Amino acid sequence: MGLFDKKECVLCGGKAGLITRYKLSDGSFICGSCRGRMSSNTTGFGNMSVDDARGLITLKESNDDRFQNNFVITREFDLDSSHRMMAVNDETGEFAILKDANPDIFSFDDVQNFFVDLSTRALNEEERKNDSSLTGLLTFLFSDDFRSRFPEIPHCPRGSKITGMYFEIVFGPNPFWAEKIRIDMMPGWLDTETDVEKAYVCANDMYQCFKEYKNGTRVAQSFEQPEEQTRSINTNAIEQVKQLKELLDMGALTQEEFDTKKKELLGL
Ligand SMILES: [Zn+2]
Repeated sequence: MGLFDKKECVLCGGKAGLITRYKLSDGSFICGSCRGRMSSNTTGFGNMSVDDARGLITLKESNDDRFQNNFVITREFDLDSSHRMMAVNDETGEFAILKDANPDIFSFDDVQNFFVDLSTRALNEEERKNDSSLTGLLTFLFSDDFRSRFPEIPHCPRGSKITGMYFEIVFGPNPFWAEKIRIDMMPGWLDTETDVEKAYVCANDMYQCFKEYKNGTRVAQSFEQPEEQTRSINTNAIEQVKQLKELLDMGALTQEEFDTKKKELLGL
């Protein structure tokens, strides 16, 4: 009796191999394939009871159904059409990081912290002298214009180059037992202005989204707005058009600018 009779998976009875087994709080083990049926974000097996472990497998299965059939994507954050990053359901205040077909659905309430982590390394002498494309990229990245567009995202120090960008989400207690998610914002990274800019734009948009929920400036709400609220928006738009008309009469706006803005405000 002792250690050697505990090498069976407590859930499926299969072999819990030395390398692929996970020890639970009561000293029993689960095998790699049972672990694979849970979220890849799950951590903390040492604090988990057998029932917890079973529940996490059930949760991952029902998550699949929820994501396929009940997750309304009201906003999506992508690097481009082939790199989808995050889907948000603003009706329920939930999000999913789109790294696989069955992405965990988290509540924004589960989030404790979020930030962008930029990896950089110092340029060597050779790179400084010879790499003209890199020089172009650095000029672009160090421009005041670029920096001012993303004041809350870390920027590359001078004399260095960016080697990666990660969006990190740190969780409080949550159903998936996830501790954090680290998202690669430069998958298949190329040293080009386009790729760096895409990463910055998407990371910044995601950052602003988390910030809205954290600051309470956006709360989960149904998109069917009450009539009263719709009416006040219309009144507001008319008020703004009036102000624009004044600017037009003053000569501060061209007719074309006025027309464009008017259409926008009135949703024409
Ligand atoms: Zn198993």
